[in-house]
Amino acid sequence: MSVTDRPDDSPGGQAARRRTFAIISHPDAGKSTLTESLALNAQAIDEAGHIHGKAGRSATVSDWMGMEKERGISISSASMQLQHRDVVLNLLDTPGHADFSEDTYRVLAAVDAAVMLIDAAKGLEPQTMKLFRVCRHRNIPIITVINKWDRPGKEALELIDEIREETGLTPTPVTWPVGIAGDFRGYVERGTGDLTLIRATPGGRQAAEEEHLDADQVDRVAQELPELAEALEESELLEASGADHDQDTFLAGISTPVFFAAAVRHLGVPRLLDALTELAPPPEPRPDVDGAPRQLDAPFSAFTFKIQSGMDAAHRDRLAFVRVCSGVFHRGMTVTSARTGRPFSMKYAHLAFGRTRDVVDVAYPGDVVGIVNASALRIGDTLFEAEPVVYPPLPRFAPEHFAVARPADMGRMKQFRRGVDQLEAEGVIQVLRSERRGTHVPVLAAVGPMQFEVVEHRLREEFRSPSKLEPLGHSLARATDTDSAEELAAMAGVEVLERSDGQLLALFRDRWHLLGIERTRKHLTLEALVAA
Ligand code: GDP
Repeated sequence: MSVTDRPDDSPGGQAARRRTFAIISHPDAGKSTLTESLALNAQAIDEAGHIHGKAGRSATVSDWMGMEKERGISISSASMQLQHRDVVLNLLDTPGHADFSEDTYRVLAAVDAAVMLIDAAKGLEPQTMKLFRVCRHRNIPIITVINKWDRPGKEALELIDEIREETGLTPTPVTWPVGIAGDFRGYVERGTGDLTLIRATPGGRQAAEEEHLDADQVDRVAQELPELAEALEESELLEASGADHDQDTFLAGISTPVFFAAAVRHLGVPRLLDALTELAPPPEPRPDVDGAPRQLDAPFSAFTFKIQSGMDAAHRDRLAFVRVCSGVFHRGMTVTSARTGRPFSMKYAHLAFGRTRDVVDVAYPGDVVGIVNASALRIGDTLFEAEPVVYPPLPRFAPEHFAVARPADMGRMKQFRRGVDQLEAEGVIQVLRSERRGTHVPVLAAVGPMQFEVVEHRLREEFRSPSKLEPLGHSLARATDTDSAEELAAMAGVEVLERSDGQLLALFRDRWHLLGIERTRKHLTLEALVAA
């Protein structure tokens, strides 16, 4: 990637040209389509469909697993690097299905901004809201995109109201559509009054045609475009209600700039690229575990937010994705793993998106590097050069589904154990153990039941160890300590297990079961875990 190929630049200077973000949305709002269109319009690829696609189009690169193809959902996360003007955009892919929210949460720990994608006909949907709350919790600034404006949908003003009411953010539309949903003629730039007329190319394989008119030229087309007067009127209405973009409140997570688009026809997407480069914040010094920020120009540091296996069926490899936080990454450099204190060689590093890979030689703060065959790395690990640093651990979600796992064929115990260990290191599942059950009989804990399907599939296909999962009747976990553990373990229906990070978890049937115990035994330590 030539854009990263300027080793003379300081890490801070390079960081200033970077925007690292993710798209959050409900399934089917158009995340894959928008990703594809951003790539096409940033000219990272020449034709839509070469990066993403679903049934009927060319294969989606992140649909690397057979199961994903069958279900048409994206389970894995990867990253993609684009360039628009002089800015490097790092787009991190997030799985859409709610069962993989823990995975998404970790991706959101690695971004500096998010694009909240809304279907114009459906408005804010549950998964969008869930992800929105995660962003808010992490103070991630949000750019809102109302998609599918080429199709009948709600009214623009109605959608703006909905965003305000549902999210509590102040929506500040930067562009305003000319033409109702289903009749997308163009948009007005609310700040300047400039008009952009847009026309999709047949088939949608190429970027849309755009014609830009300055505010003083707009009168020229007003006659043939009666929709324009209405758009200008609505835009003025918004101005009166204080809905103009404000960069400070956006960065503070109080307001959200809004754009309109039809990703499938590439309409409004070039404007979104501009917005990402102009509005989204560049990487900032990241606070370490004690809250002290690591300066961008400090020696190299990064943390692992995603581990992914089996992307390449032929090689069964394992990629660890790290986000660079400070300094410069050079391929082949040797760094230190903060968890083990051991040296770690970054020999095989790639920028990766699905099956497409480019070897990366240099990377800067904000960039994501995929390290091949990094079996020594676990989720949340910090890597550093020279000056030690430890970044805060990535939060684990509260599991709600539990199952005892055993190999179907006891002769394959070794493969089974190796598989469970690896799936845990990747963050696919949480693993709990107890002396009572024996350390070789793990209890798997998940946020969503589909995680169990992934575990079974991968144990069978990758580790050649078909497994038997026996669901437990628990649906709730609380963090506890050794003082309380014994008393809890003696209670009917309660089970105490140790998570591999050393945290003791007490499992309960349901909320009522827990409430009953909490009421009568106030001395017990029972703390809530991060909710999904
Ligand atoms: P994802 O699940 O969020 O990744 O959604 P996809 O990108 O797979 O899109 C879901 C469906 O909506 C697909 O059939 C897309 O072709 C369609 N779609 C996406 N964006 C648009 C759009 O702007 N307009 C229209 N009409 N359809 C769209």
